[in-house]
Amino acid sequence: MISKKLVLKFPKERVDKPIIWRLVKDFDLSFNILKATITSREGIMVLEITGKRKDIERGLEYLKKEKVEIEPLSKDVKRNEKKCTHCGCCVVICPVSALYMVKETGEVKFDSRKCIGCELCVPVCPVRAMEVHF
Ligand code: SF4
Ligand code: SF4
Repeated sequence: MISKKLVLKFPKERVDKPIIWRLVKDFDLSFNILKATITSREGIMVLEITGKRKDIERGLEYLKKEKVEIEPLSKDVKRNEKKCTHCGCCVVICPVSALYMVKETGEVKFDSRKCIGCELCVPVCPVRAMEVHF
């Protein structure tokens, strides 16, 4: 058994299809959803998928056929401190609380050790302070 943490991006027209359910039923995989959200363009799900290597490969092939974009959680996300205005938009969307607000000061902090690189904070930041580095 192996586990993989992935970001899945579903095209808008496929958001209400039972795609994840089929991963369990047809490919014998189990999963733990860390975060799911719908933007104006797509559905985004951060999940940990567990199963036999071969079943995971087959499951990922199925997702690609369903036009689901798959990204591993391995990119390096950084915050541009000069750009951040501490507006707080990113705090609610971060699945692991790597972005959080200090109640006393209203300051938004970024703990890069907790960040899993899901990129959910990138499109919600109005000043594009969250940056993906390759
Ligand atoms: S959304 Fe952007 S500007 Fe607002 S607190 Fe987060 S990183 Fe800073
Ligand atoms: S990429 Fe952004 S939303 Fe995702 S875990 Fe890191 S800080 Fe949180």
